[in-house]
Amino acid sequence: MSKVLIAGGGLAGLAAAAALGGAGFDVEVFEARPFLGGRATSYPLPSPDGGEPEVVDNCQHVLMRCCVNLLDFYQRLGVRDRIRFYREFYFLEPGGRVSVLNRGRFPAPFHFTGAFLKMHCLDRHDKAGIVRAMMAMRRERTRRRDLDKISMLDWLLQKRQTPRAIDRFWRQILVSAINEDLESMAAIHGFQVFSLGFFARADSYEMGVPSIPLAQLYSGDTWGKLGSVRFHFRTPVEHIDGSGFSVGGERRVADHYVCALPFERLESVGLPAPKFTHSPITGVHLWFDREITTLPHATLLDRTMQWMFNKDSGRYLQLVVSASRDLTNLSRGEIIDMAVGDLRLFFPRVREATLLKAHVIKEQRATFSAAPGTEALRPFTETGAFPNLYLAGDWTRSGWPATMEGAVRSGYLAAEAVTRAAGRPATFLIPDG
Ligand SMILES: Cc1cc2nc3c(=O)[nH]c(=O)nc-3n(C[C@H](O)[C@H](O)[C@H](O)COP(=O)(O)OP(=O)(O)OC[C@H]3O[C@@H](n4cnc5c(N)ncnc54)[C@H](O)[C@@H]3O)c2cc1C
Repeated sequence: MSKVLIAGGGLAGLAAAAALGGAGFDVEVFEARPFLGGRATSYPLPSPDGGEPEVVDNCQHVLMRCCVNLLDFYQRLGVRDRIRFYREFYFLEPGGRVSVLNRGRFPAPFHFTGAFLKMHCLDRHDKAGIVRAMMAMRRERTRRRDLDKISMLDWLLQKRQTPRAIDRFWRQILVSAINEDLESMAAIHGFQVFSLGFFARADSYEMGVPSIPLAQLYSGDTWGKLGSVRFHFRTPVEHIDGSGFSVGGERRVADHYVCALPFERLESVGLPAPKFTHSPITGVHLWFDREITTLPHATLLDRTMQWMFNKDSGRYLQLVVSASRDLTNLSRGEIIDMAVGDLRLFFPRVREATLLKAHVIKEQRATFSAAPGTEALRPFTETGAFPNLYLAGDWTRSGWPATMEGAVRSGYLAAEAVTRAAGRPATFLIPDG
């Protein structure tokens, strides 16, 4: 049985392990931390009154139905049914007025027509511009060659989008999907979100939210059924090359190696790192003494807090700010005050409620910045330098931006490369669309 060593137990490493374990390879995964999931994980938060710790996700993670490889990975782990899908996107204006975007009876790509026309948060000029831009997107997607070179904002301005359409529609959807501001995001990524999530199939936009803490998704007994996959926790890999891993000062050798570390860790293990920059995400967890809202989630318009997720009967809310550079220098107290202040504008019940507990997580290295010119620099899984070493991670050229789907795709691509090198080619990647 061919042996494979994998560095990193994030989604990329886990996806490679699941695919290769299932294909009969002997797999060992080395993870520096005591748990799996990397940037998509959860941990116990000590209770301020000494009670039971609460398990919280480092930040709310969501997916769309078009994340077919991530869903396949969850299926392999037997947790696919732990993802709850929502058909409605709620756009909330300060003052509390709600616009709902969901699919109607028309087939894709016209499935949003009815709901879109009824959205209160946009006027008819905004909507006419958005429809024009969507039609242009469908035409230009395969024709334009400069979409990785220009920013999404440049493209939207070329299409004469109104300021309100930009702020309340394009920015609200794309900044959270790509974790970058419109002015700093390559247009190619915005195109991809809309073509796969909004135009491809009538249900591909539906938003999936895990119903259990993220870490529990990877901790099931299913690994035992996926062949020979073993994990080494608290075991950082110190050096990687084509002839082995160095771990705890010892040499570990195998037939194939997968490096599924974040790009900023590559140099520390002796591999060249791409010169990407990071884009941060901030998550704010707020526990109130009463129900604040019955909405399951909502995108919050015109304020700093971008998304609200209702985690527990409207009393525990998680707020997310993507590309949150403006929050970097604020203290946790200032961020909590800002979050509660924003919420008051959308949910009047916050004014009477008591905030029982709050927690802020600033992930400064959440993802690489999907800036114009970056796509061409993302490396393929084959390293060239070492024929039996493969790269995986959301920053490699997976065909997707830095997301859970991108990470799983990269893991499957690395696993496919291993099977080819082993002379037993297998297909794991599910094509988009
Ligand atoms: C706050 C936040 C919110 C996000 N929200 C979303 C979302 O809603 N939807 C979405 O699709 N994506 C989201 N993402 C992005 C998503 O989490 C990542 O794209 C994905 O999890 C990356 O997986 P990965 O395996 O490539 O990397 P990682 O998760 O970083 O995994 C790398 C692993 O390597 C380990 N490691 C590091 N050094 C060593 C070493 N020397 N030896 C061994 N192990 C090592 C790390 O501990 C880690 O477990 C979010 C990210 C963050 C941070």
